[in-house]
Amino acid sequence: MSEILKDRAVILRSFDFGESSMIAVSLTREHGKLRLLAKGARNGRSPFHAGLRTGNMAEIVYYNKPQRGLQLLKEIDSRSLFDTGAGDMERVCIFQAGLEVMDRTTIEHESERGAFDAIEDFIGAIGSCEDPWVLFFALQTRLACIAGVLPDLEECGMCKKALAGKGMNIDPSSGAVLCEECARGPALALSAGSGDLLRALREDGPAGRGTGVCDGARRREIGRLLHNLFLHHFDGYRLPNALKMIKGVD
Ligand SMILES: [Zn+2]
Repeated sequence: MSEILKDRAVILRSFDFGESSMIAVSLTREHGKLRLLAKGARNGRSPFHAGLRTGNMAEIVYYNKPQRGLQLLKEIDSRSLFDTGAGDMERVCIFQAGLEVMDRTTIEHESERGAFDAIEDFIGAIGSCEDPWVLFFALQTRLACIAGVLPDLEECGMCKKALAGKGMNIDPSSGAVLCEECARGPALALSAGSGDLLRALREDGPAGRGTGVCDGARRREIGRLLHNLFLHHFDGYRLPNALKMIKGVD
């Protein structure tokens, strides 16, 4: 027996399946990450065809069988909030990278409303935000907060001196944060400016939308730190393919 469920979903990626169908990996608001089978979706006249484009937001109706790995899509009403044909390649790549990060940090059938809200805000703002990198870091910061792995940037873990306006060193595996005087051993350095930006993103909390701009040096520092945090804390995480294309993070 299957039940019919409705939910709100983001299409994280989709691919062809069999002769005429498609599978969409989607993050839903209430039921976590799902794999949806859309029969006949490869036919251009099928309503599923345009609906399953990567990055679409959609209202979906599907037949749910909890013990099954694939759920059967019944209806989709979708809209694309971001025009990926707009010509700004960096923005398009960061948009794609945000979807990849979501896909690699969520587990199927585990509902996490905060993660859904984070990607919905990200998609809603990517077309118009001032600096898409700041928005991307806000998304990662929110996910790291939800997972409880974002280090506390307020004070040095050893001498307890306040770190506002100071450079620091962070060990991405233990989360230890030390001031420049106490730091030793391998850790990632974060300048005062990068620390301020990351602290601001963190303080924005669940409503954080990532406003403002970030220069190349801070982008590299924050990008490297968040990437290393994710590598240590999310099984199977790797650098989004879309970021390799623009080499923004090393
Ligand atoms: Zn210290």
